[in-house]
Amino acid sequence: MEHKANTPLTDQFGRVHNYLRISLTERCNLRCTYCMPAEGIVLRPKAHFMKTDEVLSIAETFVRLGVTKIRLTGGEPLVRNDAKAVMQGLSKLPVELAISSNGVLVDQFIDTFKTCGIQSINISLDSLQENTFNDITRRSDFQKIKSNIDLLIQEKFHVKLNAVIIKGVNDQEIIDFINFTKHQNIHYRFIEFMPFNGNRWDWSKGLGYAEMLQTIETAFPGQVIKLQDKKNDTSKAFQIKGYQGTFAIISTVTNPFCDTCNRLRLTADGKIKNCLFSSGETDLLTALREGNNIEQIIRESVWHKKSVRGGMTHFDDFSNTELNQQNRNMISIGG
Ligand code: SAM
Ligand code: SF4
Repeated sequence: MEHKANTPLTDQFGRVHNYLRISLTERCNLRCTYCMPAEGIVLRPKAHFMKTDEVLSIAETFVRLGVTKIRLTGGEPLVRNDAKAVMQGLSKLPVELAISSNGVLVDQFIDTFKTCGIQSINISLDSLQENTFNDITRRSDFQKIKSNIDLLIQEKFHVKLNAVIIKGVNDQEIIDFINFTKHQNIHYRFIEFMPFNGNRWDWSKGLGYAEMLQTIETAFPGQVIKLQDKKNDTSKAFQIKGYQGTFAIISTVTNPFCDTCNRLRLTADGKIKNCLFSSGETDLLTALREGNNIEQIIRESVWHKKSVRGGMTHFDDFSNTELNQQNRNMISIGG
């Protein structure tokens, strides 16, 4: 097919991609039930994964093609031995650099974040109750993470907290999460539970956008203000009247935001995923190691991105295990 794109990273539906999420590792120091299968994931030899210079080289190509924002994710990006070197290398590129972390190690990286110009930090905080949090993460780092979040706020970073809302696990805490924004400039985001290989997904455990909003409006009648969303935002933002912070709902399942999607993903083993839900991937790392030009491979992958959720056009497709379970689990995609 002839490419009539107005930038190299435009797909056949006219969507321009300028945001790359790079997963630095599949490893993690937590074991969140919704992200990682109970049995863990099989760790492969180091040679399968991008080395520091390979991350930088592939990222540089994406930036040349039009990427203006890079978010580091994982697994847990900060468990990588060369996390500092990767951040320092990427900070030399003309991009906005951001990171998603579980928060366990962030206190060791405050100076690096500052010198690398990383201001936006997303941290998973799925419960404000120590026991529930530790049950979800199958570890006991609640206090450490809470104090690291306080540290980030004190150091004036732009902090967003993420909670995947699961019925019977943390759905009863939504109002507490919102109250957490009352006196702090924090943005709390509630994420609909998404299906991935091994996370035993079933939508009866999920809470959709409409249900979440109804719960919130019942608790705060006439006080929920809808905020203006930006064009490529994956979330719908709100604020309670008089509260300092804000909150948002990310409705990937019930109300996808594919029309304005500007995101691409690079997995830790160097594959481009043109959609979070795509089961197809394109290997850039092998091509790079064989000395091939990866530019054209990236352009082809972007061009062939499906219009909606990796081809899961209807809500019912989520319950089709053949479709949704072909995808990797989140720990190896990089959420
Ligand atoms: N370790 C970091 C963290 O926890 O933020 C970064 C990687 S994590 C895979 C990125 C995001 O994916 C987190 O916000 C996490 O809540 C989200 N996530 C993981 N599994 C999910 C699922 N099944 N449904 C919805 N969100 C999920
Ligand atoms: Fe680790 Fe983040 Fe997945 Fe939790 S959500 S297991 S912290 S990668």
